[in-house]
Amino acid sequence: MHEHTEQEIRKSFINCSKGEAQRINLPKDVLQDWESRIFLGWIDPKSPQHGYLVAETDEGLKGIAVQKKAGKGRGNAQMCQICMTLHPGSGISLVSIQRPKAKKDHYNSLGTYICADLACSDYTLGKRKPEGIRQMDETLTAEQRSDRTLENIRGLVQRVAHSRD
Ligand SMILES: [Zn+2]
Repeated sequence: MHEHTEQEIRKSFINCSKGEAQRINLPKDVLQDWESRIFLGWIDPKSPQHGYLVAETDEGLKGIAVQKKAGKGRGNAQMCQICMTLHPGSGISLVSIQRPKAKKDHYNSLGTYICADLACSDYTLGKRKPEGIRQMDETLTAEQRSDRTLENIRGLVQRVAHSRD
């Protein structure tokens, strides 16, 4: 990623009001190591049900607020829909994402499965690995994996921004 200021990040959110975006808990360590990030993902340290994803897209920097759905982690391994990492049940969260300006005849939120710590960049780049689970064998290069993760997060932002599935 390119470097972005805190204000640029706050302005990027497409599914929060301006006031909400100003109040987002943005830990300092999120704004570091830009070159090793595919996109930003963090959990609100004071409110762990709330998380934030910010990605560079063709239409500029776009952020989305997500909410973890309460529920017990199931025993089965599950795959993150963004970085394709397999985790034991508790390592994946179902998150619900509010759409901006929802229209009556469309669902006003959507859901996806994602790494519970939103650290898809680190998993994609091999800096973090889920314990106790074997990943699928893949022939992709590190660069191809990064590209895929970036495409997936951009696709998610698109789905949130445009009211159709
Ligand atoms: Zn992930």
